[in-house]
Amino acid sequence: MRRAIERKRDGDELPAALWEDIVASYLEGAVDDSQVAALCMAIFFRGMSIEETAALTGAMARSGERLSFPPPVRIVDKHSTGGVSDIVSLVALPIAAACGAHVAKLSGRALAHTGGTIDKLQAIPGFRSELSAEEFRAQVERVGVAVAAQSERLAPADARLYRLRDRTGTVPCIGLIVASILSKKLAGGAHAYAFDVKFGRGAFTRSLEQARELATKLVSTAALFGRDARALVTDMNEPLGRSIGTGIEVIEARDFLRGAIDDLRVREVALRVAGELLDLSGIDASERVALEALEGGAAYRKFVALVEAQGSSRSALESMSFPDRVRATRSVGAGYVTGVDPVALGRVAREWSVDQATAGIVVSVRTGDRVQRGDVMAYGYGEAAQADAIAGAFTIGASPPAPRPLVYDDE
Ligand code: URA
Repeated sequence: MRRAIERKRDGDELPAALWEDIVASYLEGAVDDSQVAALCMAIFFRGMSIEETAALTGAMARSGERLSFPPPVRIVDKHSTGGVSDIVSLVALPIAAACGAHVAKLSGRALAHTGGTIDKLQAIPGFRSELSAEEFRAQVERVGVAVAAQSERLAPADARLYRLRDRTGTVPCIGLIVASILSKKLAGGAHAYAFDVKFGRGAFTRSLEQARELATKLVSTAALFGRDARALVTDMNEPLGRSIGTGIEVIEARDFLRGAIDDLRVREVALRVAGELLDLSGIDASERVALEALEGGAAYRKFVALVEAQGSSRSALESMSFPDRVRATRSVGAGYVTGVDPVALGRVAREWSVDQATAGIVVSVRTGDRVQRGDVMAYGYGEAAQADAIAGAFTIGASPPAPRPLVYDDE
């Protein structure tokens, strides 16, 4: 192992068999955390070739159980690299399933300030996210969509390595992120993947260039394993939707799907992702068909079917509501909103929602909005909510910032 660390430190490319050995030895305990941490730091600075990334991905995918879905039905999965108020999965998956796609989503927990789809769904009373492989497969076939917690038995090497990377400042490294995400996707058994690669101050990849590189590498590495993939690059310089938390994001997704609220940002990304899932499924459906599924209620009925199939009920979903205790955060000056910090808001909302699933934040303003002194910028809901805890997340300036696109590329 020491020699492998030195070679990587000096910029060498390591052969595939060595990556396999490293993963096996780490899981067996023959190499310890300090050595793997040193290797991750060397990778952080030196990078990995596409062949090395594929070798690490394959070794991690093979480190545990692997699910499979027998043909002919083509199974698709969707993955976001992590955002704040990112309710795209809750919205796009039911839209795609309502249009005939078969979606099998394995989902992780929240990472750092970003939310995890499983934590959100578990805020629905009675929702069961631990599904056996058989239950998962049967539900995808019967309902068209299942969302299950990533079991520790799938790609266990990634779970272990991710914890170490989190402790050693080596999460934001493109090769390691590709291997981490793709090893779990390969073990999950879907045939094709739609990736939503976030960039900006609330994302693991800060710059557009890094996000584009990550998107390209996710797609090209997936191709080396015979998997079709698409990747959108989307902005995460501010929260995507309006609600931030766990249950509070389910409420937003529910109300969006049943037409009670609209949000152009959520609508744009969700329809693009749903379109990619349909395309990957080989279903010839335009964005218009996806829109009809959303506006005609079919997507909401599919969301209810998903919730019911996983142990909860329509009434449990529909009785979720905002906590009574609410605190308004107001602007102390007049001008234009020049920034809404997703990291600060994501951290605080996660803290508030630990003891109360529907606690969280609803932002009232977006970057570029004009505000007067005293205008509400956000509402904090729940017993733990405090107005000043989030005031610093909003910056106000004399002139509006240049408008930015929300969706950039399709790799
Ligand atoms: N999400 C993952 O699953 N892994 C990473 O390394 C980063 C984001």
